Amino acid sequence: SAPSFRPLAMSAVEEATEKKEEKGETFEFQADVGRVMDIIINSLYSNRDVFLRELVSNAADACDKKRFLSISGSDSDGSDLARPSIKIKADMDARTVTIEDSGVGMTKSELQNNLGRIAQSGTKKFVEALGEGGTGDVNLIGQFGVGFYSAYLVADRVTVVTRSMQPNSKQLRWTSDASDSYTITEEDDDEDSDPIEGSGTRLILQLKDDALEYLEPSKLESLLEHYSEFIEFPISVWKEKT
Ligand code: ADP
Ligand code: MG
Repeated sequence: SAPSFRPLAMSAVEEATEKKEEKGETFEFQADVGRVMDIIINSLYSNRDVFLRELVSNAADACDKKRFLSISGSDSDGSDLARPSIKIKADMDARTVTIEDSGVGMTKSELQNNLGRIAQSGTKKFVEALGEGGTGDVNLIGQFGVGFYSAYLVADRVTVVTRSMQPNSKQLRWTSDASDSYTITEEDDDEDSDPIEGSGTRLILQLKDDALEYLEPSKLESLLEHYSEFIEFPISVWKEKT
């Protein structure tokens, strides 16, 4: 008969981590995503500041979509006419920068389609223009619809907590360390999950060791002055108390 091996005992901590990961579902990035991430990280290293412009413009797009859907009457909750806004928080202890919007949010399939793959048309041209001997022009990143991945210029892990404005949407947590996969977990409302009220998206950047300058609210504010003067939603910058 086949020999049987006893598995090594896991420590309590390992076991807890294991359980938490078990709850989530792991998905592979489309192959192009890895290529695009590599190019962004390698060719835009000296222009890392662009991450904030790209992520704030995504937050503003999401607010815009919510406003549009609310005006056209598809909002289930007509009483919620609060103006969408964008909050940026720096947490010195956790070494995170969080960009939170009260926009449309994303469903599970939207997370998979928007943050797991790249609109097919743009990828090849992007690789030609920016990578492999390309110019490294920071403006290309927004044009090719790959702005989200610029988060990995400053973060080694990105977590996206989101709740879609579609009725009865659960809060979802997408996370990836820019390897070849990402995880999506459904969060229970009773959990200690810092619930998003209504709809919106909270993007948590776990900063790289050499990117801690972005924890300074004054740094964030000066970048916003440069990049975000045409954003029509209120943007506030907060520093987490320590
Ligand atoms: P683009 O903004 O040009 O489409 P990005 O890579 O910046 O490309 O973003 C990809 C997609 O991910 C967006 O089109 C949008 O559907 C989704 N997305 C990104 N950030 C958010 C957000 N804060 N709220 C809702 N959807 C978002
Ligand atoms: Mg974008």
